Amino acid sequence: MTKNYKVDVLIAGQGAASFAAGLYSSRYQMATLIVGEHFGGETAIGGLIENYPGQPDIDGFDLMLKFKEQIDNLNTPIHASNLVDVEKKSGKFYSVLEDGSKVESISLILCIGRERRKLGLENEESWTGKGISYCSTCDAPLYKNKSSVAVVGGGNAAVEGALLLSKYAETIYLIYRKNKFTRPEPLLLKILEQTENIKVLFDTEIKSLIGDDLAGLRTIGISKPWDGNSEINVDGLFIEAGADPRIEIPKKLGLELNSISNEVHVDIAQKTSIEGVYAAGDLTDGTDLKQTITAASQGAISALSAYQYVSEFNSLRQ
Ligand SMILES: Cc1cc2nc3c(=O)[nH]c(=O)nc-3n(C[C@H](O)[C@H](O)[C@H](O)COP(=O)(O)OP(=O)(O)OC[C@H]3O[C@@H](n4cnc5c(N)ncnc54)[C@H](O)[C@@H]3O)c2cc1C
Repeated sequence: MTKNYKVDVLIAGQGAASFAAGLYSSRYQMATLIVGEHFGGETAIGGLIENYPGQPDIDGFDLMLKFKEQIDNLNTPIHASNLVDVEKKSGKFYSVLEDGSKVESISLILCIGRERRKLGLENEESWTGKGISYCSTCDAPLYKNKSSVAVVGGGNAAVEGALLLSKYAETIYLIYRKNKFTRPEPLLLKILEQTENIKVLFDTEIKSLIGDDLAGLRTIGISKPWDGNSEINVDGLFIEAGADPRIEIPKKLGLELNSISNEVHVDIAQKTSIEGVYAAGDLTDGTDLKQTITAASQGAISALSAYQYVSEFNSLRQ
């Protein structure tokens, strides 16, 4: 339902950073609104989380339900629609949501995370979920006892994905466009070397996705032949090629971005280049450690910064 809101702080996103920001913001007694279409963010689809302190071995979805329970207890409203437009006028922020709802706020906290990188190949979108996946942690068990699966990428996520899939499928092809791995953790590379059913194809790119609309992906076309073949039959393809920060809204606002990573630039108080706008979590260049705990911590800090800003804003207008 379309609504009009007037709040102290608008928080965009429904992930770890936003829920933590919402928790602190509500406890600071600010009128708070959280907006975002999808519950839980990347944590909710990340599968088993083993490194969130105090919650050993918890499913990411369940962890995010716990985050939400805490803000529900404070009656923090959540409006399930994405932020599509925002402008700053006379010191306040005027935002529009996808469903047409409007929000006037004194401050804004952006926690909208990152978008998974795609290969940009024909049929990639239509066969997602039909043999193509962007989350090995989520979908690996679907490939139990399958004969072959490919993973594309050269970072930790790709190597971790291949290792996980090696427990389910017979043969895993790990495809990387460069001639060696430089980014994954050394320990992971050591385990990779020792895992016999993973074949690493260096200097190789995926050139085509072959299959049909009914069955989805069946075969991948590769740039450098493997065993004399430039096509490999696969039951599935996992695209673990990294992620890009969602900068459409930050760009509309004119926020400064990190010149190397393209992430929203923040200081240690999660302040962006525009007064009254804060950003937290995977969207930002606050830390290289893109994890649930750091997102939550930055969300909490951004709420304190917003609180200080809103208090000063109100005192100047009294
Ligand atoms: C497969 C996988 C496994 C992982 N495993 C772990 C792990 O074991 N441990 C760990 O600590 N971390 C893990 N991570 C990383 C962790 O999930 C992220 O660091 C964390 O989710 C970042 O939180 P965030 O709130 O910044 O962003 P996100 O969780 O990405 O949340 C962003 C939110 O913003 C919403 N959004 C997007 N656009 C808009 C818009 N325009 N308006 C409003 N809302 C919008 C999204 O729908 C989403 O709800 C994993 C990530 C992945 C992908």
